[in-house]
Amino acid sequence: MLTKNLNKVFDYTLKGKTYIPKRIEFRLIYNKNIKKSDWNNSNFKVYRQELKLKHYFGQSMRCAYCRVQLRADAYWEDLDHIVSQNDKGSWIFYPKNLIVTCEPCNRLKNANLTLANPKADRFPLFSNGFNIFNPHFDRWSDHFEIINGIFLKGKQNTKGPATYEHCHLYRSDVIIYYVDQQRIWNVLTMRRLTHKLKDSIKGSNEEIHILKAINHLIQRKKYNL
Ligand SMILES: [Zn+2]
Repeated sequence: MLTKNLNKVFDYTLKGKTYIPKRIEFRLIYNKNIKKSDWNNSNFKVYRQELKLKHYFGQSMRCAYCRVQLRADAYWEDLDHIVSQNDKGSWIFYPKNLIVTCEPCNRLKNANLTLANPKADRFPLFSNGFNIFNPHFDRWSDHFEIINGIFLKGKQNTKGPATYEHCHLYRSDVIIYYVDQQRIWNVLTMRRLTHKLKDSIKGSNEEIHILKAINHLIQRKKYNL
């Protein structure tokens, strides 16, 4: 194999690894009167931290969506709501509604409805209940693939393409991270980037991000990294 198989590295799931709330926490988090404004309430601080660590390690210390490596201390990364706080305020502490993401995935994601049935009054406990990838129910490799070691793609007819749009996964920080994973294959990686550049539409976001990745690789080589 010529390049590091990121498809394999990134293929883990939170299925069966979701944080299980303690009995005392159940009463707190499944309370129908919970509102969006309770998110920072100190009563939930320990719960939030424990859940975050459990999911952080369950996700192999990577962002649930783009699979970029997260900071070692975890506490600086955001917990992300799959169904947004504005959408369903009483679900904000549900363990299967929470994942750990990188800061750009959290910040850039659309406020679009992620529920397949926006009127649902119960949190769906199955994959098809969501329009986007939910790592508590879905396997990453069923929805995404990495082409030629560096290009992330949502697989057709899966939740991959919608998730790709939702989190703006065409970002340059993502492709640069993948390029850095293929460290020993600079020549091959450069060839793949330039091929892709030729195929991309002039002035498109794709072209801009590939150019940034090419420039990153040139700079990296200059410093013998
Ligand atoms: Zn991410």
